[in-house]
Amino acid sequence: MTRPLIHPRDEIMRTMERIYRYRMTTTSGGNLSICEPSGEIWITPARVDKGSLTREDIVRIAPDGTVEGRHQPSSEFPFHQAVYAVRPEIRAIVHAHPVALVAFSICHQTPDTRLFHQACFVCGKTGFAPYALPGSKHLGSNIAATFQAGCESVILENHGVVVGGTTLSQAFQRFEAFEFAAKTVIKGRQIGEVRYLTTAQLQQAHSRSVALQTFHPAPATTKEQELRRQLQQFLRRGCRQRLFISTEGSFSARLGDDSFLITPTQADRESLEVADLVWVKGDRREAGKKASRAVLAHQAIYRRHPHVQAIVFAHPVNATAFSVTDSVFNARTIPESYVVLRDVQRVPYGVQYQHTGSIADFVTAASPAAILENDGVLVTGSSVLDAFDRLEVLECTAEAVINAHAIGRVAAMPDSVIHELREAFPIE
Ligand SMILES: [Zn+2]
Repeated sequence: MTRPLIHPRDEIMRTMERIYRYRMTTTSGGNLSICEPSGEIWITPARVDKGSLTREDIVRIAPDGTVEGRHQPSSEFPFHQAVYAVRPEIRAIVHAHPVALVAFSICHQTPDTRLFHQACFVCGKTGFAPYALPGSKHLGSNIAATFQAGCESVILENHGVVVGGTTLSQAFQRFEAFEFAAKTVIKGRQIGEVRYLTTAQLQQAHSRSVALQTFHPAPATTKEQELRRQLQQFLRRGCRQRLFISTEGSFSARLGDDSFLITPTQADRESLEVADLVWVKGDRREAGKKASRAVLAHQAIYRRHPHVQAIVFAHPVNATAFSVTDSVFNARTIPESYVVLRDVQRVPYGVQYQHTGSIADFVTAASPAAILENDGVLVTGSSVLDAFDRLEVLECTAEAVINAHAIGRVAAMPDSVIHELREAFPIE
């Protein structure tokens, strides 16, 4: 484990700001804490606007129970304390009432994270804690019992969710992945039957590894600097617009014939810096950095399709809902969607994890985007901006189609209209 260098006050404040910005809590709901090895606990305050927390608002509770700070600790402090008491390796807790998990909570269900390999491995064991009065010792013992049984991500009956982690960033990632899985199930149920992964399928994704030799790069050209800047900015924008989740997805840009820049593996996508992106040249990676595990899929697409300049694997919730059902995604909805997306392919589960390069069969000039079964979407483009725009159009189209299901039958544009669009907007 790395030495933590960020003060708990700052870590809690930044994480709460992010949860609020992602619309995963209201200003009054939700609380976060960090438990130090010494036994001191840092927690968000009671009754303070979560949208504008400052570091001084965070409350410290000493091991002897003394409260230090300008506010009272969160009224849910008793359950935080109860969880730390039964699971010493848990060092951070996130509690909130995000809408999709609350929907499960009020139906007395727990979302099945076997929807995606990412959700399944990030969220850990999931559980359900029976109702008790908020702030009560009884609620604390109900929650602590589920954690004692080995759970890491727990739905609270008619209340919300509690997740624990060995660090606050791990707890946040669990919380985000759990809410994302819940949202995808809800969206998926609006368009079809939701399909879950088998243990063998989960293992297939989890056990893939890529061993590339390394090289020491020459000084960066301005082209490389420009592409690093673009990738970093669009990754951040994509996280903020919820096209990416922080633990999954990869983005790359072509630098030369057999050379591209790509996101690193296992890094929070929103906080990536230009230097974190990894240069892959031939079968080698930049020394000292680890490329995304999707690197060979990106490489296969660049090698097969010289026109492709940027590639994104992402998890926007509406388009991803199509990936977990058999509902066919049809972009023949409005001219913009068809012109940008054309005919979107569907990739059987796991093709992108194989090292055969066959993922490149599913994206062509005539079909630049694809839905990946139980794993989000794949989008290619003639530039970083072009790929990002196509990803946004794909997500907006998917959302419109899902919404349309609630109001009537979706009328796809007929072949005559498609023919006219193809003539007017030929593939470049
Ligand atoms: Zn609550």
